[in-house]
Amino acid sequence: MEYKTTLTTCPYCGCGCNFYLETVDGRIVGTTPAQEAPVNHGRLCVKGWNVHEFVQSPKRLKSPLLRKDGRLVEVSWDEALEFTARRLQEIKEQDGPDAIAFFASAKLTNEENYLLQKMARAAVGTHNIDHCARL
Ligand code: SF4
Repeated sequence: MEYKTTLTTCPYCGCGCNFYLETVDGRIVGTTPAQEAPVNHGRLCVKGWNVHEFVQSPKRLKSPLLRKDGRLVEVSWDEALEFTARRLQEIKEQDGPDAIAFFASAKLTNEENYLLQKMARAAVGTHNIDHCARL
């Protein structure tokens, strides 16, 4: 049996707390807060303490879903992205860019959130962009 700990950053929000993911034989089994981390000083909120549970959950989505004939079905990333690009273009042509809104996530990095707002403003032409942290 091989026990390991790996220092990493919580993906749940922008605070950036650090913890050690505990693994046994390559399977994630627990979370231990990092005492030395300057952000959280050995503390975690309830989401951080339980972060290891979602990684291996059988309920986790692993591919895009598209609604077809009223049912969600798994599709390839190419099909999902082609569908999304085509629909955004159709909506923009029919109703204008402000008929489209983008919703960012606290789980993205600053760089990814920057790129999302850049795509909204420069590529689509809308300032309709918000963030889940405002909910
Ligand atoms: S442990 Fe809680 S406060 Fe810290 S980064 Fe994760 S979600 Fe945010």
